[in-house]
Amino acid sequence: MYTRNEYLKNIPSVDEILRTTEVQELLLRFSRVLVVKAIQLVLEEKRKMILSKTDESNFEKGRLSDVSAQLIEAKIAEITQPSLKRVINASGIIVHTNLGRAPLCEEAIASVVEVARYYSNLEFNLVKGERGNRYSHVEGLLKEITGAEAGFVVNNNAAAVLLCLNTLATGKEVIISRGELIEIGGSFRIPEIMSQSGAKLVEVGTTNRTHLRDYQEAINEQTAVILKAHTSNFRVVGFTAEVEVSDLNTLGREYDIAVMLDMGSGNLVKAASFGLRDEPIAQDAVKSGMDIVTFSGDKLLGGPQAGIILGKKKYIQALRRNPLSRALRIDKLTLAALEATLRTYVFKPEHIDDLPVMRMLMASESVLKKRARTLTRLLAKHNTDLAVAVVKDNSQVGGGAYPLDDVPTWAVAIDPSPMTVNDFEYLLRTCNPPIISRISKDKVLLDMRTVFPDEISLIAESISIVVT
Ligand SMILES: *Cc1c(COP(=O)(O)O)cnc(C)c1O
Repeated sequence: MYTRNEYLKNIPSVDEILRTTEVQELLLRFSRVLVVKAIQLVLEEKRKMILSKTDESNFEKGRLSDVSAQLIEAKIAEITQPSLKRVINASGIIVHTNLGRAPLCEEAIASVVEVARYYSNLEFNLVKGERGNRYSHVEGLLKEITGAEAGFVVNNNAAAVLLCLNTLATGKEVIISRGELIEIGGSFRIPEIMSQSGAKLVEVGTTNRTHLRDYQEAINEQTAVILKAHTSNFRVVGFTAEVEVSDLNTLGREYDIAVMLDMGSGNLVKAASFGLRDEPIAQDAVKSGMDIVTFSGDKLLGGPQAGIILGKKKYIQALRRNPLSRALRIDKLTLAALEATLRTYVFKPEHIDDLPVMRMLMASESVLKKRARTLTRLLAKHNTDLAVAVVKDNSQVGGGAYPLDDVPTWAVAIDPSPMTVNDFEYLLRTCNPPIISRISKDKVLLDMRTVFPDEISLIAESISIVVT
């Protein structure tokens, strides 16, 4: 038996390890700095492990100081893997902000790759051979889809709201209903965006009820904008009253004040087509006469992160001239993805399910049930002894859209005992690629609605690895 110190002394040096034939072979495939770094980390771990063992009789003879090329290669794989990576979303939340919201459609992906690899006409008018307009690539499509007079895009919807308020209402007042002073996912709070924009917030009405006269009474010569915000991730239910969009528009015109709507998730397709409660879509907001409408590009629209602004020409022109628009501007890869996504709405409306978000929303229960059955069959084939069941459950739209609407789904429920559900959920989360599940009633649920069909076998394989 060795003592702790003998074990520590037995640890080879970096140079000794580098000289072994196996590690020399690694040097043919990986750069020297990377191999050295990996060796140093492995040795450091060895040292820590030896020092942390309290019972020296646990030291297995000679083993602890062994540093194999295999171990070094595994460490290289670990340190070179990217931090931002693909995950499998089995949570059932379609527009999941923490998981990157909307996956892109194939055309958008292809367009991003092409524009990334080569030069593009981002700001170059090919006909005139002179400087062009970055926004021209999507403005026409936005107008065509929604019927708006003009359109503009920025980095995200928070930026869109900020830019609009800063352009129209710096040093002036913006009226909003108390029931709409929302916070969305951590950092977007209407009152804070408002103060950053330099506008003064004027709250009217009460949390549950706001009437037209509340808005009317708040109007004075300082009023620049009447803002209506979609309450997104919450609902006031019961004894409630909110003012119709059309009444706000009439009021705005009467006093020559801009009326603006922050839609949040800018659906362009009637929700009835996927069995959800009907809510106004962006086209309705434009038709109602709203001066400005803003929404996200990566929520129900199904595109990249972007803030889309529709509105009357004079307002959109004012936004363009604001120097802040340069700071909030959309980048070319996003623009490429957004254009391709919008083209799907214009040119292939009958194939709107080419957009993954739409496809997931529209997936029928029978398809999802079949997917769940396939997964359980594959798990059985891998001889995992897990107790699995195909169960009916509810998915969520996410992204602040339809917070009260459940979307019926099918899932594979796993009882991992004797392992705890939390331990099992963690093991799935640390797979490659990570699998994001949800825990419900002491089972781990894999919701089939947000899983891509080609991910099913990957899930089965990963599970079979973690349970053996
Ligand atoms: C999601 C949301 C936002 C923020 O949009 P981002 O694109 O995430 O910046 C703003 N307002 C409402 C009502 C929302 O639902």
